[in-house]
Amino acid sequence: MLNIDLHCHSKVSDGTLTPTQLVERAATRGVSMLALTDHDDLGGLDEARRVANEKNIIFINGVEISVTWRNRTLHIIGLDVDPKYLPLEQGLAAIRNGRVTRGSKIAEQLDKFGIQGSLEGAYYYTGEDGLIGRTHFARFLAEQGYAKNVKSVFKKYLVKGKPGYVSHQWASLSDAVGWICGSGGKAVIAHPARYKLGKNLLDELLLEFRALGGSGLEVITASHTPEQSLIFAHHANRMNLLASCGSDFHGPEESYFDLGRMPDFPIECMPVWHDWDLRI
Ligand code: AMP
Ligand code: MN
Ligand code: MN
Ligand code: MN
Repeated sequence: MLNIDLHCHSKVSDGTLTPTQLVERAATRGVSMLALTDHDDLGGLDEARRVANEKNIIFINGVEISVTWRNRTLHIIGLDVDPKYLPLEQGLAAIRNGRVTRGSKIAEQLDKFGIQGSLEGAYYYTGEDGLIGRTHFARFLAEQGYAKNVKSVFKKYLVKGKPGYVSHQWASLSDAVGWICGSGGKAVIAHPARYKLGKNLLDELLLEFRALGGSGLEVITASHTPEQSLIFAHHANRMNLLASCGSDFHGPEESYFDLGRMPDFPIECMPVWHDWDLRI
């Protein structure tokens, strides 16, 4: 068992716990190394690091960047990034601005569909200064009884082809990987099985990602079945990419995996942290 978790969310993006509560939960679960990877936002890192230090958890500055690649949305995790690196900070600020505009469009569409008040409703669920995302709309819609839970709200209202879906241009892959690597971090493709890429497109992505400076694939994640973890371990190996693991925890109520306690990597994996100087 790996008690290392390099992918989770706090209230700063679309998690339900504050950075403090999140790290305290990780400590209770015996996590030895934790990266907070909020979507497009570095605002929780200082607080999380402070608590992690108190709890003797090795803390890694992380982020999960929203990217558009060939008309698809991908998520790229940055690990061990420098939050003070200006291009990263500015790039993420631009993405967050885009989220504000997209949020208004989502609300307009829902309004036309007969669902009023969703913008205020969604903002009620964002953290103070936190970003706005589909999850916040989902929480509002679930609370209003439009579906039985957040997961089914997504299916009914917020995915492609549904009334609250707005297509959006996120950062480019080269910008996202460039910001991460430029800040001294390692770029990892989050939950790769989720994109359902055919063999050719997957190879194109992995080759392009590596050429841009990308380091790894998330092999162990709540989005993967054990078979998918094996498949992506193999892709990582084949493409000379390192392996990462993370729960993608968003909160006790909404997540499949709790923090830490991941299944072991398939034997062929080289962990993304293999050459890190790990000190608290
Ligand atoms: P956004 O970046 O605002 O488009 O929101 C993406 C987030 O929505 C993901 O990080 C998940 O937390 C959540 N999400 C996406 N698809 C689903 C789904 N089918 N069910 C539940 N949550 C989802
Ligand atoms: Mn999320
Ligand atoms: Mn993601
Ligand atoms: Mn995530």
